[in-house]
Amino acid sequence: MDARRPGPSSARHVAAWLALALLPGLAGASYRTTNFVVEAPSAEVAKQVAEHAEACRVSIARAWLGQELPAWSTPCPVKVKLTRGEAGGLTSFGFSRGKVSDQSMSVEGRLDRILASAIPHEVTHTVFAAYFGGPMPRWADEGASLLSEDLREHRRHDQIVLDLISRRGHLPLERLFIVEEYPDDLMGFYGQGYSISRFLVEMGGRPRFLAFVRDGSRSGWDAAARSHYGLAGTHELDRAWRSWHKVTAENRSRPNSADPVLVQARPRGESGGQ
Ligand SMILES: [Zn+2]
Repeated sequence: MDARRPGPSSARHVAAWLALALLPGLAGASYRTTNFVVEAPSAEVAKQVAEHAEACRVSIARAWLGQELPAWSTPCPVKVKLTRGEAGGLTSFGFSRGKVSDQSMSVEGRLDRILASAIPHEVTHTVFAAYFGGPMPRWADEGASLLSEDLREHRRHDQIVLDLISRRGHLPLERLFIVEEYPDDLMGFYGQGYSISRFLVEMGGRPRFLAFVRDGSRSGWDAAARSHYGLAGTHELDRAWRSWHKVTAENRSRPNSADPVLVQARPRGESGGQ
């Protein structure tokens, strides 16, 4: 199916108040907010995604950093591909002198899943990149970005981790913490990263989690576990996580259970759920 572009007269009309920019020669439309410029198959989708990304940027930065991020000097380009499937996304960063020098994002899937899952996840990566000014350890970057997704994704990952632990596929934490490349068992890796991030956030909140990850990657995970969580080291953290997981993941997989770490700007028009 081809994506239609608005004709010139309707585009002029919309541009007057929506700052809509047509992309000559490309199918689709673009919508610019302060921090995002979204290319999507239609103007309405571009606008919805850009506004939702802005709302997520505010709520996610507040939750993790205690304050909003300053406006970026260049808006982050976002490419949207609509499919009938589940959502996925990718954000790439360049860093220079301890700061993000460029970033770009692409998301795809059904629009409702893009808004509920891919955009909050990818925007969380941008908040972490701003905080770290360099690559964040993979397990934490992916695991904690999953915390920004919706209840459905949280439940799905709780189940993945239950299965992972029951087949003993999880990595010892001292290995997980230093994984640099995405491993073959990607689902298991994301699931374990999500579960440990969740455990640490439920224990000590988001800012402490970020400080733990920063210090752990700089000066060792045992020392960081001691100073931020009062644990003897990574081994004790591993044990504590597994016993926490046994109890809470099974509770959470029940319908209507509370999900204390959900923080996201809910897409407009969505109702119900957590
Ligand atoms: Zn990710």
